[in-house]
Amino acid sequence: MNPAAIVDPEVEARPWGEQQRADDPAYRRQAARLLADSHFYKAKLGAAGIHTPADVSGLDAIAQLPFTEKDELRASRTPDEPIGTHLIPPLSEISRIFSTSGTTGTPSYVPLTRDDLADWIAVSRRSYGASGVTAGNRLVSTYGAGPFVAGVPLDTFNALGVTHIPVGSGNTDRLVAAVQLLKADTIALTPSYALHVAEWCVARGIDLAACSVQRLLVAGEPGGGEPATRKRLEEAWGADVTEAMGIGDICVSLWGECREKQGMHFSGRGFVHFELIDPQTGTPVEMKEGATGELVYTHLRHRAAPLLRFRSRDHVVVWTSPCPCGRTSPRVRCIGRTDDMLIVRAVNVFPTAIRALVNEFSPAVSGVIAVRPRAKGFRQDPPLPVIVEVGEDQPFDPALAEHIRTRLRDALSVTTEITLVAHGSLPRTSYKSHLVDWSQAV
Ligand SMILES: [Zn+2]
Repeated sequence: MNPAAIVDPEVEARPWGEQQRADDPAYRRQAARLLADSHFYKAKLGAAGIHTPADVSGLDAIAQLPFTEKDELRASRTPDEPIGTHLIPPLSEISRIFSTSGTTGTPSYVPLTRDDLADWIAVSRRSYGASGVTAGNRLVSTYGAGPFVAGVPLDTFNALGVTHIPVGSGNTDRLVAAVQLLKADTIALTPSYALHVAEWCVARGIDLAACSVQRLLVAGEPGGGEPATRKRLEEAWGADVTEAMGIGDICVSLWGECREKQGMHFSGRGFVHFELIDPQTGTPVEMKEGATGELVYTHLRHRAAPLLRFRSRDHVVVWTSPCPCGRTSPRVRCIGRTDDMLIVRAVNVFPTAIRALVNEFSPAVSGVIAVRPRAKGFRQDPPLPVIVEVGEDQPFDPALAEHIRTRLRDALSVTTEITLVAHGSLPRTSYKSHLVDWSQAV
């Protein structure tokens, strides 16, 4: 253990068993404020028969409260209340309004007061600090500062004292130039983009593994935690890969992975409370070694638009065993999005889990796949079609398809139909990769 490496040792190394008790007073204050000032929660909790702070009680009774869904927030927006009725202060007291890209066309807004922004930066400092980012690092970021919450880590990099080299998203020439000319040692990017840059360098005869980069900080999608993808990235870049995860409506970089690389520690202690639930039934799942479920978040001290039991749709596996780094919070790895989960003959299947297993066959495969369901909706009949790209200059070996099919059947209990396609024929994105292609679904 090296306590000097922990950004907030008093908080991050405190026994985890004490956390809920420490958070209880803040939760009670927040619940009282929601009942007094949040039009959204006055209506929502009132409809559930909860009218007073005494009805809410403390954190140990939180599971009796209703969940908050993203769609409910969206539905509460009107021309008079464009952010939604969960916004508490007047807009004049809001210091920043981020927006999410929004799959429905209209952006969702994430408002923050000045103090909320300071809290987000404090959480994000712990998260990036866990990955070993420290003063003196030369860090290239590829996040657009623009409208998205991913802009907050840019403020965090200032707070950590790094030499920050922003190159923006999708500008591979500029990124590689920053590595070659400025000898950057740390790169923050999505795992699919990290993979793309590695392929881009191979095609141009650039030896990335011999370059100055020692650390990749990946975020934005689950791939960076999959063992085979991580191994490929670490070999291609000659660098350590750690990941971070947050959620726009709650906080950025809520989780950050330490140098032990055994999952992401919770960095939001004192600011956010989290629970684990079964996504189908909504019942709580006990937080113990190896447990899996969906993360649900509650703000403990958010001011602008506080949320209660917000369903993240992030499905994770949890580890609670002690970590040699000295941080005592549980660690998680994201398995996939609850929304992406398919059910094939009563078996839950995450496209990200399929990709992780297919990647075991690297370098015979490129690591890029697409699940192409035949039917609309999450229920699918076997065999589930999976398109697998072969690796660069690799043959179309029918035996490879059969090996992949067998591996998926043994590991996931799902029957698939594997189609091999040429290297480079599936789309790459510089931000999040889409693993499910619904174009063939009827
Ligand atoms: Zn650790």
